[in-house]
Amino acid sequence: MSSKGKVIPLARAGQTAPCDRCGELCKVAATRNTEAQMLRAADRPKGNCVNCAVAEWFVVSGLRETTDPQSLLSPAVHKPFEAVMRHARSDASATEIRWDRVVQNWSLPFVVGYTPTGKPKKKTFPVFDMEQWVDRLHRTGRGAPGGGYADATFSDRLAEHLRSSPKNDAN
Ligand SMILES: [Zn+2]
Repeated sequence: MSSKGKVIPLARAGQTAPCDRCGELCKVAATRNTEAQMLRAADRPKGNCVNCAVAEWFVVSGLRETTDPQSLLSPAVHKPFEAVMRHARSDASATEIRWDRVVQNWSLPFVVGYTPTGKPKKKTFPVFDMEQWVDRLHRTGRGAPGGGYADATFSDRLAEHLRSSPKNDAN
């Protein structure tokens, strides 16, 4: 059923264009894997740079709203992400990803299409907001004995974050 795919050369290799989202200069890769399921190399000078493609992966996989972007700087996140990349035959390699840029640009909107005249249509997706999540978890937990969190991992991570965060004292 699934195969390792075929690595094919790209005719437009080396052609450059600014990233649709952050504007960083990108180059068309030399090759791509026909079976790549994530971080696919574009065959023309158009689209997202690898860092914006990583951010987009979090949108597509539904994890964006629950991901604290600062946590993406941790090697504890990079290792499993690399395992997912290998499994999905990613065209990008782990060493290409600049996690600091992924985090820095986390709030930028994504280009989701083009108008008939070729102008990019941009869309902003929800961004992790600790305050909002604390509110939601409080509402979810209300009246439910022992909590009622659907996602133990997330609530554990949230608790850890709250313990390690400096208090936001109004002054
Ligand atoms: Zn970019």
